[in-house]
Amino acid sequence: MHQQENSQKENVSSKSAERIKSLRRKQLDPEVLIDRILKGDKPALSQAITSVESRSFKHRKLVSKLIEGCLPRANNSVRIGITGVPGVGKSTFIEVFGNYLINRGKKVAVLAVDPTSSISKGSILGDKTRMAELVKQENAFIRPTASGESLGGVARKTRESIILCEAAGYDTILIETVGVGQSETVVHSMSDFFLLLKIAGAGDELQGIKRGIMEMADAIVINKADGENKKATRQAKSEFRKALHLYPDRENNWKPKVKTCSALYNSGIESIWEMIKNYFKLTESNGYFQQKRNEQNKYWLLQTINEELKNNFYKRPEIESALEKELKAIEDQETTPFHAAQRLLNM
Ligand code: GDP
Repeated sequence: MHQQENSQKENVSSKSAERIKSLRRKQLDPEVLIDRILKGDKPALSQAITSVESRSFKHRKLVSKLIEGCLPRANNSVRIGITGVPGVGKSTFIEVFGNYLINRGKKVAVLAVDPTSSISKGSILGDKTRMAELVKQENAFIRPTASGESLGGVARKTRESIILCEAAGYDTILIETVGVGQSETVVHSMSDFFLLLKIAGAGDELQGIKRGIMEMADAIVINKADGENKKATRQAKSEFRKALHLYPDRENNWKPKVKTCSALYNSGIESIWEMIKNYFKLTESNGYFQQKRNEQNKYWLLQTINEELKNNFYKRPEIESALEKELKAIEDQETTPFHAAQRLLNM
């Protein structure tokens, strides 16, 4: 009797194990997943991005298929990069801006490039209380950043996530970064429009602004233009305007703008969207929009090759040990860096 019961139990558990296995297989079946993504299924999109973020070989193969399947339906969005130091109001701004866009019929995806996440466990998008309203929207998709990665790795994953979001029907992609190290350059290289968020300080507004950022920004938006801050904001606006005049004209004929807003009190948002729309109107009519995307794609092709070559090189065990020996030899002044590098590259 006991024996019979036991074998029945085993039967049931092996059946359910089989069912779970087959469900998993189905979940990871690229055709099924692509189909669900193209229908705008959020859990499928999340699952695909999780695979994008995974380092396992199995996932890399799946991701290649997913990207291939999604690519024909991608590229139909506007990509807006948003940067600013912590505390400037990025998440508050994205919350109101995202809701504003959704109320106008847009589908908004928010992604992040956060180079500090591996150290601090994420300084952006990690906290669930951020963008509390936007999260609840049917037409919003918010994805915290990939963590524990090199900036190159995060960049590739963000690019792939953009493609997946676009294929899922998101027509406005907001890519946020805190602007540590090279992360602004990375976000700039995957955005159509690049927005620098600032707050008015006391006096010299241009101090503490990173080199190169003025050339990258299509607009500077001074946030927290409310209450006692209003006067300082006006001053900051005029200072930034003057500074922007000193830069040569841009190839796309766009003159970078300075705007003010209060994300907290939801003011100035409409004027920012009008400005961004004007930018797209101009750059689509003069061909710059497509030209920039083409250049970005070429850049990313080369970046991906560089990244892969580098990873493949350093990951080889014989290189790891030989590199250690060569580093020691350099320390002991037994060789030159160029000879050592050549020996390693010839291996
Ligand atoms: P982030 O670190 O750049 O994402 O900044 P947060 O959006 O988290 O904002 C930092 C702080 O500034 C929070 O306490 C916000 O409430 C506040 N804040 C954001 N936008 C505004 C604004 O327009 N006006 C005022 N007065 N405070 C704001």
